[in-house]
Amino acid sequence: MQQENQVNIADLRERFSHYLKKQRYRNTQERFLVLDSVVNIDKHFSADELYIYVRGFGAKISRATIYSTLDLLTKCNILVKHRFQGDSAHYELADKMPNHDHLICTECGRIIEFQAIEKLGEIQNEVCQSLGFKPLKHSFNIFAVCNDPGHCEYNRA
Ligand SMILES: [Zn+2]
Ligand SMILES: [Zn+2]
Repeated sequence: MQQENQVNIADLRERFSHYLKKQRYRNTQERFLVLDSVVNIDKHFSADELYIYVRGFGAKISRATIYSTLDLLTKCNILVKHRFQGDSAHYELADKMPNHDHLICTECGRIIEFQAIEKLGEIQNEVCQSLGFKPLKHSFNIFAVCNDPGHCEYNRA
């Protein structure tokens, strides 16, 4: 399911570079390392997970740089920031949205993407029409519990 939308790294790098220039931020190597990692990680991730991932291949990059770069990538619409539950945000590439929504397991935190675009699109259009709005997008999260949380392979608590 994750491979459906091909992500063009060169295009993302150019968009990010353009944004940084426009906002008068420096085009630092670290910022682009974060962008490359985000593309490689290929799933929803928190800032801490990204930090561990980046440190995992020996890159010397501070937590603060990770946080601030994720912030910039969200502001220039390369990343979408989700707040599924609790305090920690999850991120994913905007290019992979909006053709899926999410199911979140409240026990183990597992995030599953699913597609029900037609049905949800109909609801979106109906609601907007009845209230006199033009629909733009929606975000739909299902919170659920896996069948056997005690034996769930994702439950690391
Ligand atoms: Zn679970
Ligand atoms: Zn997603």
